Amino acid sequence: MRSIPRLRTGRPGRLAGLAAAAALVTAAVPLLAVGQTAAVRHDPSTACALPDPSGWTDEGHSTDYAQFQRPQGVHTAAMIFVDFPDAPAEEPTDRYYDFLAPAQDLMTQFSYGAVELRITPVKHWLRMPESSTDYGMQRGIGWTQQAHYVKQAGELAARYVDLSKYDMLYIVPPKNATAITFSPAYVYDPTNPNLIVRGKEVKWGVTVGQDMWHWGPKVLLHETGHSFGLPDLYSFFDRNVHGYVGGFDVMGNITGDAPHHFGWEDWKLGWLANRQVACLASDGTMAVRLTEVESLGGTKIAVVRTGTNTAYVAESRKPYGVDSSICKSGVVIYKVDSSVNTGEGPIRVQNSSPGTPTTATCDEPVDWGAYKPGQTFRDEEAGVTITVNASSSTGDVVTVTKS
Ligand SMILES: [Zn+2]
Repeated sequence: MRSIPRLRTGRPGRLAGLAAAAALVTAAVPLLAVGQTAAVRHDPSTACALPDPSGWTDEGHSTDYAQFQRPQGVHTAAMIFVDFPDAPAEEPTDRYYDFLAPAQDLMTQFSYGAVELRITPVKHWLRMPESSTDYGMQRGIGWTQQAHYVKQAGELAARYVDLSKYDMLYIVPPKNATAITFSPAYVYDPTNPNLIVRGKEVKWGVTVGQDMWHWGPKVLLHETGHSFGLPDLYSFFDRNVHGYVGGFDVMGNITGDAPHHFGWEDWKLGWLANRQVACLASDGTMAVRLTEVESLGGTKIAVVRTGTNTAYVAESRKPYGVDSSICKSGVVIYKVDSSVNTGEGPIRVQNSSPGTPTTATCDEPVDWGAYKPGQTFRDEEAGVTITVNASSSTGDVVTVTKS
């Protein structure tokens, strides 16, 4: 039995009092307390949901759950271990399972308990028929090559376990199989033949590689996130790989300092209810009391829609849970563009303090980009301002205007 971490529930903060005090520091922007109705509007949250122009992994809301896993409930994964004629395993499978198993508890924390990941290790080394160097398991690999690897591994495992009972297949090689370098997600492609076990297609999984030793168990969070339809938030093309979101969100830098998913993604995944989203889709002003994204309950994101595929989002980030090492807490403001492809910056954090010196562990300027009381984000062209009015240990109050 593994323990399920107790989720932090949203606790009443001191925001009401702070909100009053904050009028002193934001004289230019009238403070509107939550619940105040005059001149304050909230559009229905659905008016801020963005479409999915690409239909693949992106930040739009209409995820195709014929292709991707629905990110709710119990998800089972068979973890199988494969070695090779040129790279025979030298250690028991337990070492590998034990290293990756914390992904299960992490999934509970990341999803507010919406998803329970159950990994069953199949404790045999299965000898693959080809050399580890023959599978091409490096960056740039195509779906067909990866599917070939999955098919061979799955057919070996099917002698020991009924794979038709599992949602996913995690395939783990030994440490000396250095040619298996990285850990791409395996996501069902309806146009290609998949591995079929007892009449059921193996649609999703991760072909784990040596980078697991660098990333740790969160690599399974990241890759399983792709099977839920999430895009990569690091850059495929820029030299500054983590310039868009720094250490925020496990879909960016897996070892980042604030790996909790952006609240926008929590909403897309259905881990936040519509009532937890404050939306401004037309001209107006809204004041929002945000509770930290790391805990359960409360309003999590303030969204101002700026176009067919674009929005700005403000959320509160605090040093708690998976974000306990966050570089700078406060209100994180980011631009979402659902027409931008995976790896090209569909989410871009806006930096309140671009001149802040970076450190060894907080090495991206946007790691220091959170907004504090008295600071205002502005996009003149989009007619958007977001002002932080107050802050407590569990949340922040913001005023959002669109004109
Ligand atoms: Zn990825």
